Amino acid sequence: MGIATINPATGETLKTFEALTDEQLEAKVALAARTFEQYRPLPFTQKAQWWYKAADILEADRERFGQLMTLEMGKPLKAAIAEVQKCALVCRYYADNAPTFLADEIIETDASKSFIRYQPLGVILAVMPWNFPFWQVFRFAAPALMAGNVGLLKHASNVPQCALAIAEILHQAGFPEGAFQTLLIPANRIADLMADDRIRAATLTGSEAAGASLAAAAGKQIKKTVLELGGSDPYIVLESADLDMAVSTAVTARTINNGQSCIAAKRFIVAEAIADEFEQRLIEKFAALKVGDPMQLDTDIGPLATPDILSELDELVQENVQQGAKLRIGGQPLDRPGNYYPPTILTQIPPGASANEAEFFGPVALLFRVPNLDRAIEIANATPFGLGASAWTNDPQERDRLICEIEAGAVFINGMVKSDPRLPFGGIKRSGYGRELGCQGIREFVNIKTVWVK
Ligand code: NDP
Repeated sequence: MGIATINPATGETLKTFEALTDEQLEAKVALAARTFEQYRPLPFTQKAQWWYKAADILEADRERFGQLMTLEMGKPLKAAIAEVQKCALVCRYYADNAPTFLADEIIETDASKSFIRYQPLGVILAVMPWNFPFWQVFRFAAPALMAGNVGLLKHASNVPQCALAIAEILHQAGFPEGAFQTLLIPANRIADLMADDRIRAATLTGSEAAGASLAAAAGKQIKKTVLELGGSDPYIVLESADLDMAVSTAVTARTINNGQSCIAAKRFIVAEAIADEFEQRLIEKFAALKVGDPMQLDTDIGPLATPDILSELDELVQENVQQGAKLRIGGQPLDRPGNYYPPTILTQIPPGASANEAEFFGPVALLFRVPNLDRAIEIANATPFGLGASAWTNDPQERDRLICEIEAGAVFINGMVKSDPRLPFGGIKRSGYGRELGCQGIREFVNIKTVWVK
């Protein structure tokens, strides 16, 4: 697939883009490296002022930016507009807090003075996915640029207009052109970029294959990476839980972004005693969701982003049905133009079926029944991934065991997993490494310099 805007609701190709030539790419990398030298010494107050302005631009034009996202990747417009607002939040968060997060830290030693100083690394490459086309970029760019780095964005090939719009927003906000640039290039040019001495580190959000490939290229050059990859988050509901809240949140947690979120709840692990009721209510709520044109404000579920995502999801569902899983609702692509897949529920998933391990990137819920907490934790951890986990209980002992024993980068009790600028975000196991957001996120792409003065 080339670099293009293809409306996932209709399949229509709306705009195609030429990839940068080698000369154009070289000019952008050179500009980034030159800009870093002038940009890094600027005071926090200047950088913050540009981020506050970027936040204002985002908010003022949130409908237009939201429509662009919906047009290119199909998320419901309401959610797209909310995403733009969240981007404004992360811009202001780091504008407010970066000076504190990166202030010198005095450490008492045998020196007359010893301290830690946080300094920028240089040009950072961000390889980003289409599922949250604005948010993923802003949550990288706000901390990275506040820290004094400059950014190069290689966005997913199906959201080129979002990529260009983001660079334009930052330029309008006042950042020098070389502080943040979009590279319209295919993924097969990334390894060469990682070999370029001027690029000091990289971050990637996307599939395991893409992450492994970027990390291998970076590893050859001893360059740091942050990887935020897939997830198959558990959503555990125990007997003492508030069932109304657990069921209604389950629907949002699974179907958010048309089901295409790394931290979506994917495996619902429910105590036997309440499993029949949970299952019945989930089926009713899935059946009531409005699937349709993502530009309509009352649509709950729009099309999947690409025909490939649709066919991969459908193949996984069919494979598991053949392996013995029971289909309770949905389970076939909708017979209409666009990449539409209905809300789907699979139950009675046999041991050994691929649903125990695979990530379902679409609105498909997998239900597992468990006799007790031990088994719930065992199933929750029986996955190659370790991104987030949500667990529902009103028993303090159960809560404490879940917090302690779940293998994931985040555990949310009685709530759905979500990202928040104030909290670190990232995974363990095959979900990746490193953290975004919070004070931890801004310290990923800095030189943590030890200073010791006699
Ligand atoms: P990819 O991982 O292929 O795409 C994400 C980004 O990585 C894009 O910018 C892509 O560029 C780039 N990329 C692709 N291959 C490489 C590579 N070898 N080296 C470096 N960068 C690369 O995701 P897909 O869109 O293909 O989705 C496939 C699956 O990935 C989904 O079904 C889902 O499981 C997972 N995924 C997870 C996401 C998350 O939030 N964790 C987000 C998106 C996908 P280009 O578009 O040009 O190929």
